[in-house]
Amino acid sequence: MMITKQKIEAFKKLISEGQSLISDKGKINAPECEAWKTKCLYTLKRIALHGIPDVEILNSDCAPQMALAQLQIACTSASNWLIRQDSANQTSKQQGKVILCLHCGNKTYMNMVSAHKDHWGDDCTGIWSVNLWCLYFCPVCSKVTLEHNYTFSENEYLDDYGNMRPITETTTLYPHSSSSEAGIPIGIRNSFEAAQKVRHIDGAICALSLRRTLEMVCKDKGETVGNLFTKLQNLSKKGVLPQILDRMASVLRELGNVAAHADDTVNEFPTEFVPDLIEFTDIILNYLYVLPSKIQNIQSKINNQAN
Ligand SMILES: [Zn+2]
Repeated sequence: MMITKQKIEAFKKLISEGQSLISDKGKINAPECEAWKTKCLYTLKRIALHGIPDVEILNSDCAPQMALAQLQIACTSASNWLIRQDSANQTSKQQGKVILCLHCGNKTYMNMVSAHKDHWGDDCTGIWSVNLWCLYFCPVCSKVTLEHNYTFSENEYLDDYGNMRPITETTTLYPHSSSSEAGIPIGIRNSFEAAQKVRHIDGAICALSLRRTLEMVCKDKGETVGNLFTKLQNLSKKGVLPQILDRMASVLRELGNVAAHADDTVNEFPTEFVPDLIEFTDIILNYLYVLPSKIQNIQSKINNQAN
């Protein structure tokens, strides 16, 4: 017997049949209840033979309530097994996908060149998790991207067919970019991503986008008066931004000004600075948003343990 979605639906039907028979005290010794029990024990045996964990094969003299309870356990176990199987199949089928390359800024189809999977499961509770690392190769710049996918059985969403499905969280481990991290306000994150996308298309536009990202950061941190340089200086004076970052910010400001105001020299924009500008913006976002968010996470973990 193959465990399929249809089979699990049939088990559920058998469960609800049993529930209504058992809840009616007059029927518990009736032949129809006995017939149901025979069907139930046969089903349990078939599920057990399939290698689904925690399925007990019962004797025919067991109480119908016992058979029903075992069938409920077996049904949960079988449906967890099926979800696990599904996600394993999806992984082996997934050979590549369209990714934004953070090295070259191209959004392109990349082949998956390697993968490693680590599976954990507790058969008593049916709780499981899967860690999957995938390595993709960019055909444009010949560099790799490492992704981590984490699936936890208890973290679910409702799919279009009304079934609970586990959510897979994907993070890019390499190359590192703060824009993929938690804690950065969505508008700032989008603006930074937009800058990264055009880095190889137009260095001047990239610098302008980075400047816009920094303007948004200043506004978010309560600095609204003056030009970008004054705002960054004020943030530095207040201690929000360390002084070393403030000095880098002024370099970015000057390059941004070149890109914005000298229309006739846009073509001469020093594109060799673009990677440094991106890295610098990344450091600022990391310092102002990502690190505090991580520290807060650690703090709340410590508080939870103390309570
Ligand atoms: Zn690339």
